[in-house]
Order: sequence, then C-alpha cells, then structure tokens
Amino acid sequence: MADAKAADNRIRALAAELERAGFAGEIETDLALRAAMSTDNSVYQINSDLVVAPRDAADLVTLLDVMGRPQFGDVAITARGGGTGTNGQSLNRDVVVDLRRHMNGLININEREGWADVQPGMVLDDLNEQIRETGWFFAPETSTSNRCTIGGMVSTDASGKGSRIYGKTSDNILGLEIARPQGLLDSRQPVSAWAKPMLDAAEMAARQGKAAFIANTPRLNRRFTGYDLERACADDGRFEWWRLFLGAEGTLGIISAIRVKLRRIEREKRLIVAGFTDFRSALVAAAPLIKADPTAVEVMDETVQAIAEDAGILGRLPPTLRAGAGQKVAYIFIELNGDDPAHLQIKLDDCRRILRSLAGVGASHVASDRAEIAELWAIRSAGVGLLGKVDGPARPIAFVEDAVVPPENLPAFVDEFLDILRANGLGFGIYGHVDVGCLHIRPALNIDKAEDRARMVAVSDAVFALTRKHGGIFWGEHGKGLRGAYLRDWIGAEAYSALQGIKAAFDPEGRFNPGKLVTNKVPIMGIATTPFREFNGPEGDPLTLAFRCNGNAQCLSYAKTTPMCPSFKATADIRYSPKGRADALRSWHKARREAHADLPVLEKDLMATLDKCLGCKACASSCPVQVDIPTMRQAFMADYFKRHRRPLADRLVLIAERFSPAIMRLSPLLAPVWPIASWIGGWLTASQDLPRHLARPPQGLQLHEGDLRPGHLPENTVIIAQDWFTALFDGAVQRQSIAGLRALGYNVRFLPMRPGGKVALSLGDFRGFRSMAEALSRQLHAAAATGLPLIAVEPAFAMMLRQDYANLEIALPPVFLPQEFLAAEADRREFPKANHDSPIKLLSHCTEATALPQTGMLWKKVFAAMGLETNTPSTGCCGMAGLFGHQRRHQLMSRHLFDLSWRSHVQSQDTIAATGYSCRCQAKRFSGTQPNHPLGLIADLLSK
Ligand SMILES: Cc1cc2nc3c(=O)[nH]c(=O)nc-3n(C[C@H](O)[C@H](O)[C@H](O)COP(=O)(O)OP(=O)(O)OC[C@H]3O[C@@H](n4cnc5c(N)ncnc54)[C@H](O)[C@@H]3O)c2cc1C
Ligand code: SF4
Ligand code: SF4
Repeated sequence: MADAKAADNRIRALAAELERAGFAGEIETDLALRAAMSTDNSVYQINSDLVVAPRDAADLVTLLDVMGRPQFGDVAITARGGGTGTNGQSLNRDVVVDLRRHMNGLININEREGWADVQPGMVLDDLNEQIRETGWFFAPETSTSNRCTIGGMVSTDASGKGSRIYGKTSDNILGLEIARPQGLLDSRQPVSAWAKPMLDAAEMAARQGKAAFIANTPRLNRRFTGYDLERACADDGRFEWWRLFLGAEGTLGIISAIRVKLRRIEREKRLIVAGFTDFRSALVAAAPLIKADPTAVEVMDETVQAIAEDAGILGRLPPTLRAGAGQKVAYIFIELNGDDPAHLQIKLDDCRRILRSLAGVGASHVASDRAEIAELWAIRSAGVGLLGKVDGPARPIAFVEDAVVPPENLPAFVDEFLDILRANGLGFGIYGHVDVGCLHIRPALNIDKAEDRARMVAVSDAVFALTRKHGGIFWGEHGKGLRGAYLRDWIGAEAYSALQGIKAAFDPEGRFNPGKLVTNKVPIMGIATTPFREFNGPEGDPLTLAFRCNGNAQCLSYAKTTPMCPSFKATADIRYSPKGRADALRSWHKARREAHADLPVLEKDLMATLDKCLGCKACASSCPVQVDIPTMRQAFMADYFKRHRRPLADRLVLIAERFSPAIMRLSPLLAPVWPIASWIGGWLTASQDLPRHLARPPQGLQLHEGDLRPGHLPENTVIIAQDWFTALFDGAVQRQSIAGLRALGYNVRFLPMRPGGKVALSLGDFRGFRSMAEALSRQLHAAAATGLPLIAVEPAFAMMLRQDYANLEIALPPVFLPQEFLAAEADRREFPKANHDSPIKLLSHCTEATALPQTGMLWKKVFAAMGLETNTPSTGCCGMAGLFGHQRRHQLMSRHLFDLSWRSHVQSQDTIAATGYSCRCQAKRFSGTQPNHPLGLIADLLSK
C-alpha cells in the first residue's frame, strides 16, 4: 500500500516537473485514457500510470531530460504508435508516450532522390495518400495500413503483401533520428560529443556478437531484425547504429523522425484469384508460382472462405469463383505489378500456365482494373477480420500467428502445425503470404480459463520448436512483444550477450519498454506470467461486447472518408474511439463489481469519453465484432443515473422528446414565441444553433385512427412515419417528401408523429424509452395493417427502429427507407424521366451508410430509373449527429468533422442531395448552403 502511494506520488511529481520544464503536449492520468492504453490486439493488459502526448521532437527531449533526473531514475517509458501490436508490444507500466496523437505528419519529401522524412506517429496510408501525386510510395504494407504508424512499423520491422519484392520495413529505411535527454541524435548528421561514448559502447557489443548472430539467423526474405547486428556492422566497416533500432520495439529508445526510402508507383497492376479444392493444394502452388516472379502470392483457407461466405462478403467475387452449395474452396491471390504491359502479360501468362498444371486448381479470374483489384483484396482482408467474430467464450488469439519458414518447407510445416493444434483440440482459420513462407494462424482459446492458458503455452512452445526445425523464424511479421521471451533461447547465449551490451549502451537503467526482448536488470516478461485481460464478461451482461473487443484497432482508422469513428478522427485520441471506450467500460465494469476506490474518478473520466461519442453507430456495424458503443453507453447511463441526479440539460431534452406530440399539436400557437423559447432552451442546455422555427404540420395529409383500415386509402398511398425532431423542425423535408413522392406518382400521408424514444434510450432512460417505443410500435402495426408501405424518410430514425428496437426485442412491421421502397418499385413500374445532364452527388447519413452498405446502390438505381446518373462519394460523419453538434462544448469537434469530409462536397458546384436532417443542417450552418433531401431533388428535376 505504502509502495503504491509512493509510486503515485512519484508520478504526480513527474507530471508536475514536466509541466514546469515546458513540456507542451498533454500530460494525463485520466483513467479512461489509461484503460485504452492498457491493451492492444494481444490477450494482455498492463496498466500505465501516466500518458504523455508530445507535440514534437523537442517535447520528447524535454520528457527524457526530466525523466533522466535521479528521482525518476527507474520510471519505465514506453513508446506507443497505433497500438496495433499483436503481442503486447506497446504495453508497459509507468509512462506511455502517445506518438500518434500529434507527431503524425510528413516533414518533407525529396522527389528527385525518392525519400521522405516523417514523424513517427504518421499513419502508413496517410503517408502514401499524401505523396501519391508525386508518383512515389512507401512500399511496406500491413493489413493495418490505415492505423499503424511508421514509428511502430520501424520498431516491429513490419511487412506484408509484396515483401518478397519490396522487403520489410527495415529494407526501406534510410535513417532515423532518436530523442535523448541531451538532445536529438540524427543518423544523417555528424555524431555529437555527448552521443559518442554511447555509440562506441554499442559498436563494441555489436562487433563482438556479429558472427554468432549471423550463425543463428536463417537467411530468409523475412530476415530476423531487432538489434540487427549484421546490418549495423556493415561489410565496408561502417557502424550504422540506427539499424539496431529497426525491430527493437522501443527497447532502445524513442524514435523522433524517420527517413523512408520511396519507390515509384508501378503503372500497371494485375490480380489473379484462383480457387483450389483444398488449402494444402493452394499451399503447394506457392513454390512453382514464385518462378513467374509475382509481386505477391497470398492464400485464404476454407474456414476463412466459409466465414466470409456466411457474412455475404464473397457476393462480390465473380460467380465462377464462388463455392457451390455445401462446397468449400481455398483461394490464392496472385498480384503482378510493373510499368510495361507487355512484360506484365508475359508474367501473367506464365502464372496461368503454372496454375493450370497444378493439382486441385479450379476456376480463376484476372482483374486489371485498379478498383476491382482493390475490391478483391478487400474481400481477403474483410474475411480475415471476421475471424475474430466468433461466438462463444473461446475466440482466435494471436500468439503463434506469423511464423515464417522457407516457402518450400511450408506444406510440411503446416501439416505438423495443424497436428499440434488438433492434438490440443483447437479450431483455427489460416491465411497468409505464401510467397515468403509466412502463414497467419490464430487458434481459438478462452484465455479466462487456466487450462486454455496452459494450452497456449504448450502450443507456443511446440510451434517455436517446429519453426526452428524447419529453418524458420518464430516472429516473421508482427514483431515479438512478449514472445521476446523466446529470444535468448533462439539466438544463443553469445549473441544474446551482445544484444545485452547494446541494450546497456542505449538504456543503461533498463527503462525503455522494460521486460521485453532484451533485458539486463529486470526479468524478461513471460507469455503466461504477464497479466491477461478479461476475455469474457458475465453471461447476458449488457457490456458483453466491451469484453469482446479484441483491439484489432479497425476503429482507429485515420481515413477521412470512412464513417468509423468520427470522434477518434477528430481528436486522434484513443480514449475517444470505440476501442478506447470499450476498454474504459470494461475497466468500469470491474471497478463497479469490486467496489473499487477509483470508481468515482473512473466514472467521471468514462463519462467524458462517452460524452464525445456522436452516437453514429458506425462501430455497431463496421467493427468486426460489432462493439456497439451507443448501446453500452445506454447501459452505463442507466446504472449511473440510478445513483446520480441527471444534469438539467438532459432532463430538458428528455421532456422535450416526451412531450413533442403536444408541442406539435400546439405549434400554431407556439410558432410566434418559438424563437425566444429556442433561445432560452439553448441557454439552459448550453447549446447553440437550435432550430429557430417550428415546422407547420403537413396540411390535410395527416392520418387519423379511423383512416388506418384496409382499403380505406387509395392503393398508391405511401405512409410516412416521422421522428419528433424532423416533424417539429424540418418543414422542408416534409414538403420535399410530398413533392418528390407525388412526382413519382404516389399519394402521400403522414402518421401522427409519435416520438421513438431515441433521446431517452441514448441517455439510459429505459422506462421512458419503452413507453414511447411501445406506443409507436402499436401505431406502426396499425398502419401496416392497411397493407400500404410505411416509409421513414429520416435515416437516423429508420436505423433506430431497425437496430435499437430489434436489440430490445420490440417487434415492428417493415418500415422502409425511401430508397429501399423506390428501388423495389423501379423493378415493377416505369418512373417518369428527368432532364438533367450532370451526375447527381448523393451524400448518405453515416449511420445509414454503415448499417445499410447498399444504400448508395439503391439511390443509384432510383435515379437511374429516371434516366439520371448518380455518384455516391464516401464521407465520414458530418459532425452534427442529432444534438451533439448543437452542444457548445462540441463546437470545435463538430466543425472539424464537417471540414474533414463534407465541406468540399457541399461547396462544390455539383447537384447535391443529402439524406440526413443533421447533415443538411450542418451544411447550412457551416457553409451557408442547405442541400435538398433526394426526394426534394427528384421533385425539382422532374418539374423541369
Ligand atoms: C488485425 C491486424 C493485422 C496485422 N497485420 C500486420 C501485417 O500485415 N504486417 C505486419 O507487419 N504487422 C501486422 N500487424 C501488427 C502491427 O499492425 C504492426 O506491427 C505495426 O507495425 C505496429 O504499428 P503501431 O503503430 O500500431 O505500433 P505499436 O503497436 O503502437 O507499437 C509497436 C512497437 O513499436 C514501438 N514504437 C512505436 N513507436 C515508436 C517510436 N516512435 N519509437 C520507438 N518505439 C516505438 C512500441 O513501443 C512497440 O514496442 C497486424 C496487427 C493487427 C491487429
Ligand atoms: S472496437 Fe471493434 S474495431 Fe475497435 S478495436 Fe475493438 S474490436 Fe476492433
Ligand atoms: S457511435 Fe460513432 S462516435 Fe460513438 S464510438 Fe461508435 S463510431 Fe465512434
């Protein structure tokens, strides 16, 4: 206890010293953030005490300088990039340095010489996107390219598709800058006097161990790195100290800048996808195919194929490649790149000839269009992502997932590997890079159970031995992390002692990522002795999904135009991501169960992370295991507000939702005073830009109870159900829906508005929600009994009925979105034709785009039936998301999100329509232009 208090005081003192020393970035002890930083894609959880997010390299020097003071002499320090490690690479105690948040930019590019300097927290795809126009690219590719950082890639020596030709990250780096307490040490500059003794000591150790190191590392394309003594001591006698950092996983220090070697983007690309009757035949194909010199050869086994088939992902494959009913197929993907189409054709013909000669081969397909190639690769990646979406307490985990053996040994190696898994009674799915002999296998285990933890160790030991037997490397792609525990055994005592010498030179106190890879002072962390994270929640618990988050970090994508996750995109702060929130919710669950003393602080910090969630639900659809943060937030809120009083603002919106039908009924009376009421409401709820005018209910089109009888209304009638917000405030969409549907030949009627309970649900007022939901459900059932189609124009409302009502087992009749209804109608009748010569740009609401991925296609079909062409660009969230964008505390984030992916579309000269009320309001607020709803656009175009 006294120790914990002393440690706590030391961390506080460190934070205070950092502030005094002028550290410009954030210095945080926030419990939600620390929970988010305590996990990665591994089964481990290590809690840190302090998270710092440096603004730049100078900040890093300040950090190390302060931490070098004697009173902080044994405080550990660990760098973190994207946190996508599969084996606890970035997890450690004491201080975690978040390089992803601010140090994520391109410093400069030299187009003539083909290199770029980047900050370590720059995301791989971001770099390649920013330099694409120059014709250069950074070649190492990872499946995590939209979220892993270059610093993380350098430190794990990452690689992936194409590594046979382009090499690993270490083959594509030209130099590094590292931060030290004395300043920055740049490999491209003369060595400063203060650095000389450190580098001399490292050189001596490296030279002593080089021969033993070479003797113990197999000569493979996926070479061994992590203190690479061989390349650091170059053949020409130079000592390239920076090469020791490639693959060192932050155990030697913190990298502050990286010079990456760029390659020319090849003009032509081809992809062959071929089916095989069984996985082993696909494996055997690798060695002969390599003779045709393809850029990449990858495989996917029958298990992954079956999962992808079930998830509907294989629907995008050409029909000839699909498995027939009850059949299984293993796939091989062969990519060929080059500048000369004729040369590429020769290689392509060679590959096809080789394929034809192989046993077990079935149909094949060649793609030359870049978009199709990207789509086919996306099928492979998505199938793999789904491996994590296994029901039940045992799920695939990473611990023997990237062994590499010479490609010719691969079939025999896999046979024995699978024998080990079968002997341990374990299920698995396999995919990987067969051209370099690297296979990804994640056995399914329930890590909460002691016997499964024992099985993990047994399988790990057996696969380690098997990999050596076949002349391979146990850590072929993802780095070592806690599997560094095998390093001493693998490299031998003499070489390991040299590695220790290097560690001592750069990190005499053993503070950088201690316990990993190489240690002098502290024991190495063990694969079974490091704390495991809780794997399964109590059965039936509303927070179950938080336990199922496996940290694959798909929700940490930097990409501006993908919907997941807006709050992370706007902040680059992991606590505001689905992963971060899931970690914090899990932490809260434990603290609540155990009545932990930290509970009040944790609840405050958790509440703050949940407050920045826009409730867009992209996580509920796009996360491979559907970690649905808004639903878990409801459960947390319900529990929390049983014990605490709700804030006034929440109480006011709950009342407004509940009494929205009365407001609507009284709208003629309230209309004149509404501007002042809206101002007062804004002031009381700390909101801005609230709607200043009440909509007039659609005159003469409101249905009454007596109208809801079969045969009472004309056959071409469609019934519109409205949510309370658009019914009260969006008169435009009511008029546009009427006009658009009438122009297409429909008679439009509106159900009397009943609130669906969205606000009540999101604030965890389950009782209020249920009473509103049941009333709405009765009304919708009565309306459906007319036999006429029900339409919800507002996507957020329609998706709530589909997702949240289903979650809470409230049965509803089908309520269609306009595009679903009209696309089906277009199959059975002619639509009038419009005269408009430029394509329409249709922007979807993000909740709709993620929950109904075919939404764009449906609108395209509807407009095509009128003779119109439609583009459906991808966008992220517009930043409004109901009330979120109105709340004053969210203004910066809301505007930032709009700028990220909406502004350029809205301000273009294109003919635009947007499906969401929030998005249209946001466009008006930040650009002065309010797009139409697509039905409004239809009305306009058909009236021309
Ligand atoms: C679903 C999935 C698929 C994957 N696929 C691939 C793949 O195809 N190929 C592949 O190679 N890997 C893959 N990985 C592993 C992982 O994505 C890579 O290792 C990646 O390079 C890690 O980058 P990161 O930014 O997330 O690093 P982190 O996980 O944050 O850190 C990794 C290590 O680097 C250290 N580090 C980070 N930044 C610095 C710095 N500035 N200075 C010093 N040390 C630093 C950390 O301390 C840690 O030890 C996959 C992981 C997942 C979850
Ligand atoms: S929330 Fe989903 S996407 Fe994000 S890390 Fe967890 S499992 Fe992966
Ligand atoms: S609902 Fe949206 S903002 Fe909230 S965690 Fe999920 S993806 Fe992020």
